Amino acid sequence: MAKLIVSKFGGTSMGDAACMLRSAEVAYRQSSSMVVVSATSGTTNDLIALGQTAERQSWGEAEALITKIHQKHLKIAKELKVSSANMQMLEQLIEEMSSLAKGVHLLKDCSVKAMDALMSLGERISSILFVEAMAQVLARHQSAKKAQWLDVRDVLRTDETFGKAKPLTNEILGLCQKHLAFLPEMKTVVVTQGYIGRTEDGMTTTLGRGGSDYSAAILAEGVSADVLEIWTDVAGIATTDPRLCPQARPINEISFKEASELATFGAKVLHPATLLPAIRKNIPVFVGSSFDAEAKGTWVRKDVDEHPLIRAMAIRKKQVLVTLSTPEMLHAHGFLFQIFKIFNDHKVSIDAITTSEISVSVTLDDSTLLNKKLIADLSEIADVHVEENLSLVSLIGNNINHTAGLGKEIFDTISDINVRMICLGASKHNFCFLVSEDKGPEAVQRLHKKFVEV
Ligand code: ADP
Ligand code: ASP
Ligand code: MG
Repeated sequence: MAKLIVSKFGGTSMGDAACMLRSAEVAYRQSSSMVVVSATSGTTNDLIALGQTAERQSWGEAEALITKIHQKHLKIAKELKVSSANMQMLEQLIEEMSSLAKGVHLLKDCSVKAMDALMSLGERISSILFVEAMAQVLARHQSAKKAQWLDVRDVLRTDETFGKAKPLTNEILGLCQKHLAFLPEMKTVVVTQGYIGRTEDGMTTTLGRGGSDYSAAILAEGVSADVLEIWTDVAGIATTDPRLCPQARPINEISFKEASELATFGAKVLHPATLLPAIRKNIPVFVGSSFDAEAKGTWVRKDVDEHPLIRAMAIRKKQVLVTLSTPEMLHAHGFLFQIFKIFNDHKVSIDAITTSEISVSVTLDDSTLLNKKLIADLSEIADVHVEENLSLVSLIGNNINHTAGLGKEIFDTISDINVRMICLGASKHNFCFLVSEDKGPEAVQRLHKKFVEV
């Protein structure tokens, strides 16, 4: 039986009409049954700027952004010679964007909810254009399959955490069965949006920046896909970010566990949550370049043949180290519980943690500091000290916590760089530490040379 394949194309793979046609060709060749698309590159940023401008600046400035977004997509629509129905749909979506921005401007308030509604337009517009590209490619190959547009919000049910909504797995499975049961017949290529979802009350949500990878994985789980493909602008997951280190090389195969660590600790190539649904359903994930579809790419699977000590490294910028100290922690119990309860109440996630007898240090994304109430609540139970402008450097591999001498080799390689915090032991697959932001790239480059370029 033919395999059921879900393919996701990121922003650069949707950059213009040529990119869309190239990506549609990839989807055709792969016999994809479902294509999940991002907004065209830069559009989500433009929509965020629109929300902020409409809230704070003159209407004229907001209008200029609307025109920019409109023109960009109109150009693609014209190049693709889209049908009048889809052209009308495009105009309708631009109209919706303008009305939302006007509402924000009049109220002088761009809530996270309003921002989600605005941002959803990026994917909704790009998918309208892509379904046209897909139909053209299918027609060119005289395929019997039809391209069909789907509003993903009909199946991707989420909770109400606007800006970073949580997909509701059971509901999604039910909705996929209801709306997508025809998929295994292989007569259709469904084109839909990444990144966005809908609450039970019908409000539009987003899954957090870069969330289209996650959407595609959730949909792959929902339709019981055999393979999930993530098509981007690099030929697979590399040993580190190629932009940071030109010597980085593509990895042929990596385990779910290692790739999850890599994504969580900063490798932008996959949204951190992407592998959760794939792991739940044991769906292999392929990562490849839509610009060079013949290149080998990377397979992410449960079991892999090789288990190198260090396979890859990542860097997570804009970290803050929050240290909480109180003598009351001495020989007392319950302090960690109180701290984690506060983080939990504020829905803030911690990346790395170390403790001493009277203090606890945790790393957080710097955007967390905007939450003044969190810091105020923490200050009620401990002295709070915040250090900013840090980067978390991670080495990802196997058996890391049981390998004698590894720590020495790592720190000998960067002996002149001050290390502010170390996390080792909890994971077989990860060794991470904090350095100042300006030293982060150099630390990765040196460690890459030492452990990977050998
Ligand atoms: P898309 O828009 O397709 O989702 P992203 O920009 O989100 O693409 O992710 C792809 C980018 O991730 C690459 O261009 C690369 O710079 C970056 N990246 C970071 N770490 C890695 C890594 N280990 N391997 C490959 N790419 C990486
Ligand atoms: N368009 C969204 C973003 O830029 C989601 C994605 O591309 O994955 O964050
Ligand atoms: Mg991405």
